[in-house]
Amino acid sequence: MSEGKKYGGLDRFRMIAAILVIAIHTSPLASFSGNADFFLTRILARIAVPFFFMVTGQFVMTDYLYDNDMASGRLFQYIRKTALVYGLAVMIYVPVGIYAGHYKSLNIISAIRMIVFDGTFYHLWYFPACITGVLFVYLMSRCMGRKGMMAIAAALYAVGLFGDSYYGLIKDVPILSVMYEFMFQLFSYTRNGFFFAPVFLISGALTGRKNHVGKKPGQIFGLTVSFLAMTAEAFTLHYFKLQRHDSMYLALIPVMIFLYRLLLSWDKKPSRILRNIAMWMYILHPAVIVAVRGGARVIHMTALFVDNSLVHYFTVTFLSGLWASAISCFISGKRKINPTGRAWIEIDRAALRNNAAFLRSKLPKRCRLMPAVKADAYGHGAVLIAKELTRIGVDAFCVACALEGVKLRKKGVKGEILVLGYTHPEEFFLLYRYRLTQTVIDYAYGVQLNEYGRRLHVHIGIDTGMHRLGERSENIDFICKFYHMENLKIDGLFTHLCAADSFGRKEQAYTNLQAEEFYKVVHELQKRGYSCPKLHLQSSYSILNYPELAENYARAGIALYGVLSTEEDTEEWKELKPVLSLKARIAAVKNLYAGESAGYGLGFTAGHNMKIAVVTIGYGDGYPRSLSGGIGTVLINGCKAFVIGRICMDQTIVDVSEISDVKAGDEAVLIGKSGEAEISVCDIAKQAGTITNEILSRLGARLERIVV
Ligand SMILES: *Cc1c(COP(=O)(O)O)cnc(C)c1O
Repeated sequence: MSEGKKYGGLDRFRMIAAILVIAIHTSPLASFSGNADFFLTRILARIAVPFFFMVTGQFVMTDYLYDNDMASGRLFQYIRKTALVYGLAVMIYVPVGIYAGHYKSLNIISAIRMIVFDGTFYHLWYFPACITGVLFVYLMSRCMGRKGMMAIAAALYAVGLFGDSYYGLIKDVPILSVMYEFMFQLFSYTRNGFFFAPVFLISGALTGRKNHVGKKPGQIFGLTVSFLAMTAEAFTLHYFKLQRHDSMYLALIPVMIFLYRLLLSWDKKPSRILRNIAMWMYILHPAVIVAVRGGARVIHMTALFVDNSLVHYFTVTFLSGLWASAISCFISGKRKINPTGRAWIEIDRAALRNNAAFLRSKLPKRCRLMPAVKADAYGHGAVLIAKELTRIGVDAFCVACALEGVKLRKKGVKGEILVLGYTHPEEFFLLYRYRLTQTVIDYAYGVQLNEYGRRLHVHIGIDTGMHRLGERSENIDFICKFYHMENLKIDGLFTHLCAADSFGRKEQAYTNLQAEEFYKVVHELQKRGYSCPKLHLQSSYSILNYPELAENYARAGIALYGVLSTEEDTEEWKELKPVLSLKARIAAVKNLYAGESAGYGLGFTAGHNMKIAVVTIGYGDGYPRSLSGGIGTVLINGCKAFVIGRICMDQTIVDVSEISDVKAGDEAVLIGKSGEAEISVCDIAKQAGTITNEILSRLGARLERIVV
């Protein structure tokens, strides 16, 4: 699973946790059953706050637990942020606190105690507990190893237990009772940054680091058992009236660890907005409680909105959610990055699906697409394209180099990833670690791969006449030797056709010869008793021109993106729809008077008064500089505008004299449609004197890529 996805489950559970916290403070079932309410608010809902501690532990403390040389940057960044939120929350609750008479007997000591431990309002203890807990764990990590820290955190938790749920056991023990009385002078509860938070901060850091995917049944069983134990524990303590408070239980620790592991295996997209909503619900709900009570009194409906605990709870939750969403949307609206602010690529999902379906229709069932997503998926964005294709059932890809494969894996792309090109022996570990399949590019390379010493998945490349990569097809004895290399797991055998794009007599004959050579190798291997798992010969052109060569995979590249290398071919395969559009903003519109020049090197001089626009894209984005000087055009409001002067690295000047209503901020289309007009990749390739593949694959990393 991708790094990112591991956290989507956590983000969703934050919402549940926030709703549980509201339950603690509103006792939804109190009107109906004391025991049911005890179960909901004093047992079940008690997982909420430890969960937040664990998330903090995972994201803030992991580095400190595992890497002794870590700078403290992240820690202080977290503390600063939390202090800021806490400060804001304190301010919000000043009026409510005054109204509730919280500050009546305030002195310096009680103010410090309030700010450092108890919080200035009943739910705000969480923020100082986070800050002191994180600092405390950090200091421990400077002095001792993980085992020592765990022991201390567990011991402190035990101390905390006796000040919380187990208080009844020690309150009459002579010395202990005095000690606890003294502690309670310093803070009202032991559920704070020293006794409560550390164990969960550390557990979060330890649990979050491991990959727990694929062990769900075990986690569910563990969670069930430990939760039942916690329920029994809590009811027992409750029955014997031992609890001074009810935040801490013995079984809460295993409950949290199992729960957290389960949440990490919940395959969901991370969501910043849910994160923010949950936080604001947490901060705001006590104020909402006050407001609901006040409001109900004003409209004389306390019986419904206050006395009916369930209605009260839902009202508070709903209004808190509403407020929290409003604030979160406001904040995220202000901070949102606009990918279409400068220059960007739009990926047409429907076109991509259409092309995949069309290519599939040309292939027999047993032959699967193995799209080429090398060179950032021909400029389209490899991760984005791979993810889109995964959704329509594609589960094999090919890339040019190992790092391209690693990038896909890191973003959660599963399935087979075949590296078509050379991987340096020093990078063999990437093949192993990220489960990439390597092409064996000749006999000597096979030996190197085998010497790496760990089992690597490979496809054997056969050179049937392109004379680029692959072992020469006539060297059948060498090819057989790959099967005896103990560390090579041979998953496939393939060749690349170099003239399948043309139906000239010579090219056709050559392609048939290549195919013949390939099958000769296959048959010879079979004759000698070697298996040939997956075979593949086709890329885009051979899917279209030589459908009979379909085997197990078809390595479709350019055709999948809806263009072919040249204009004539694209014309012929009209069913393919271009996937990519290239767009940029207009930065400024201005006058250029007769005789004035524009751009570098006086590249253009106006013969008459004209209106020009500066477009925010240049050769630094992959827009070919050879389109300078009136060769290239862009579309604005459905009209053509010629490029004038020399294309710059980041900007291009165009003539908009004939186009009305052009203004800064407008959209210019460099590839794609605008109104009735269209500029195709083929047009640009022709103007630049190259093939579409080059234009597309050179589109820069600076461009944003979005799916439409
Ligand atoms: C790039 C490449 C492909 C894909 O080629 P297209 O013509 O774009 O379909 C297939 N096989 C190999 C070996 C490649 O290098």
